[in-house]
This record gives sequence, structure tokens and C-alpha cells, in this order.
Amino acid sequence: MKISNVRLGFATNSSSSHSIVVLPKGVSAPLGFDVIEGEYGWESFVLKNQQDKLSYLAAAVGSSLLEFYGEDLAEIIMREWFRGIPWSRGWYIDHNSAIEIPHDPITKQVSQLFVKDFSRFMSRKDVVVLGGNDNSDRRDFEEYYQYEVDLPRGWNLKWYAQKSGDWWTMFCVETGAKMRFSFEENPQDLWRSVYPELIDFKITDYCPFDCPFCYQDSSRQGIHASLADIESYLEMMSNSGVFEIALGGGEPTLHPDFVKILRKTHSLGIVPNFTTKVTPEHWSPDLLQAVMEVVGGVAISVEDTWEVSKLKAAEVLYGLRGKISAHFVVGAHPDWRLEDVIESCAENEIPLTLLGFKEVGRGTDPKPQTITPSVLHRGWRLSVDTSFVEQYADVIEKDGIPDLLVVPGEGRFSMYIDAVSQRAGISSYHSDLVEFEPQHWTDLTDIWVILDEYVN
Ligand code: SF4
Repeated sequence: MKISNVRLGFATNSSSSHSIVVLPKGVSAPLGFDVIEGEYGWESFVLKNQQDKLSYLAAAVGSSLLEFYGEDLAEIIMREWFRGIPWSRGWYIDHNSAIEIPHDPITKQVSQLFVKDFSRFMSRKDVVVLGGNDNSDRRDFEEYYQYEVDLPRGWNLKWYAQKSGDWWTMFCVETGAKMRFSFEENPQDLWRSVYPELIDFKITDYCPFDCPFCYQDSSRQGIHASLADIESYLEMMSNSGVFEIALGGGEPTLHPDFVKILRKTHSLGIVPNFTTKVTPEHWSPDLLQAVMEVVGGVAISVEDTWEVSKLKAAEVLYGLRGKISAHFVVGAHPDWRLEDVIESCAENEIPLTLLGFKEVGRGTDPKPQTITPSVLHRGWRLSVDTSFVEQYADVIEKDGIPDLLVVPGEGRFSMYIDAVSQRAGISSYHSDLVEFEPQHWTDLTDIWVILDEYVN
């Protein structure tokens, strides 16, 4: 049996559908139709010679440069990057097929290295561009789609791309989507990224909630990190191309400069996220506005289904759909609550992250958990942290979660910085934290190398 096409939902539009296809050995490109150079719309076309394919890429890159730098600068850069391709500012790819060219997370400019790699890939003899549209029941070149290479798309979405070894990691600033891929035919395995992509960032040790399982051992006596130190760390992260941070504590929203910290992070080109136990109805108007304007996501700790319902009400009341999710610590509560919370989050369409119990700080007494098979499949948008992956590897395996969705091991793509004690580690609950005073460094190069020996 061969399934050729499946579509879920009604057709609400029709549009161009271009594909960049890697032909398997022995398969030749379909017979082509001509296209006017620089005008890549709804019509069927096949681009297979190098000049034609690079012209197509030039149209994509040119659009990104025009949008970002304006006409004069875009022309100068295009002449330099695409020598021999007569690009002009009128060139276009239909917006439904347009490829977003990502930015370098360190320089924050359109990534020349990505364009170079992409050009090299497009120059391969077995790569072709197929143009067409999905305006009829049959798509053009339908038989070739099983070989399709699909790159992240999204009109007017901003992407960062960081290269580590043979691999590119692409991160969408607006949606938080992330993917790792290689232009190489046989890429070397990637053990660790060249810089951390995510920082778990502690800005305070103050918290009034007295949770008995608090692995940070935060309390009412805890102190806040100074704004100056926090800003120094943020500058370092920006200089190292960090995509996003997860602000935590203690209770980060009770840091007196919290809104300033969110806005500073955003102004440095990093996406701020945070974890809190303070629900939106208790946020200040300034915080609410900052969440809407600059924050990627907010994770709110829940302990039972009642708190999930309250979260849903806050989501509706304050227009926070897409911004908030729930966190649930597995092992901090009776085991029957886990399934209830998973199901309640699914019913309310609240994304849920399950956190493994950390046996440090006040986390000395985990409650035994019996997790029934297939429980993870009952979630709506369900994710787990690396600690859960380590503790419940058997559940993940029994539930048949594909390896593609699981990245085991701490410190390979992220790290932890505690701005209160000025130390860093591969994770917030790792026992070996090393000194990391903000005044001595301008980026994360050295600390990332130092932490290498702790990566498991
Ligand atoms: S677990 Fe979170 S909310 Fe509870 S005391 Fe610790 S920092 Fe505060």
C-alpha cells in the first residue's frame, strides 16, 4: 500500500508549493517548464542547472536582505554574495513558498555562512527545485514529494541559525520552534553545540511559597542578584549567540527589576522565557504588557487539576493563549495526580511539561510513582525535562516515544547560570557548580569549555 497524499482539515486557500528536492541515485529530474528568471510564482517549473537554482536562492536571500537592510545595502551585499547572478530588487518567490533566510545569533545580521552552505547544497547535481501549486486535486510532480527536503518556512517570522560541526540549529524567535539539520550527505554526529542555545538563568533566591520539595532551597530569606550583574551576564549571552533564556529563581517575578530584565533580554536579541508560581491575575500591568510584547513563553507551576482550570481561566481572561504552559513536578505529589493533570491539561489545551524530581536542596523525599503505560500519549502538547528522561527512560521507551523527540544528557546544548551565587554548571541541579563572576568575562567561550568535562 502506498499513501500518496493526506490532508487534515478543510481547504481554506490555495497557493504555490515549491520544493527543493534531493533526487535519489538513479532518479532523474522531471521534464521541466520554463520560468522567467526572478519570477517564481504559482506556475510549474523545474530548475536543475546551477545558474537557475542559484538565481532561485538569490531571490530568497534578496527578499530577506531588502526587508532587513533596505535597497541600497541589499544591492551591495547581493553583488558580493552572488557574483555572476544578475539579481534585481524585483525578484520574488511567491510568499507561500518563500524561504526565510536566518540571522546569525551573534552578529544578529542575515547569516552569510548559512547562505554559503545553502548555495553549496543548491549547486549539487542531484538537487532540483520544483515549482507548482496545490490549486487542484493533483499536485505537480506529486511522485517526487517522497524525496522532499523541507526547510523551515514562515512568512515574516524571524529565524536564528547557529552552526556546530556539520549541523545547523534553526530557532524561530516568534514561535520557539527549533530544528537541527545538515546540508551534508554524511554529517558527523554532533555531541555538543559550539555555544549554549539555551541558558537556565537564576536571578533570585527569594521565594515566599515554602514548597517542601524545592530543590533550589529558596526561601523568604533568599536574596536577589543585582541588576548590574544580571545585565553583564545577559551581554555575555548575547555575545555568544544564545537563542533564549529560562529565567527562574526563587520566584523571578518578585525580583524588583524583573520587567527591566525581560525588556533588556529582548533588546539584546535573546528571547526571554520564565517559570513562576505567581498566576497572571497577580501580575502587575507592566509585567502583563511585557509578557505580551517581548516574552516567548511562561511556565506556571501547577499541583492539581484545580490549578490547571485556574490557568485556563487566566489564559482566556488575559489573552495569553500561546504564551503560557504548565509545569508539574513528578514525584512531588501523590502518583494519581499525574494522570489527572495530564488529562486536564489536554482537555483545556494547556501545554504541559513534566519535570523530574530533583533530590537536592529541600527535595529529599520523592513520592513513589507508578506511571501506567501510554500515559504520555494522553497529553495534548506534552514535553518532559532531561531529568524526567533520565528517571523514566523505561516509560518513554514503553510508550514508543521516537528518539528524534528525546535529547538525553545535560550540558550539551544548554547550561545554567546562577547570578545570585555567581556560579555556573551544566544544569541547575548538578552538584558541581563552578565560579563564574560576571566582571571577568565578555562571552561564554571559556565557561562553555570548562563545563565540557561535566557533560555526561
Ligand atoms: S519550588 Fe519554586 S515556588 Fe516552590 S519554593 Fe521553590 S522556587 Fe518557590
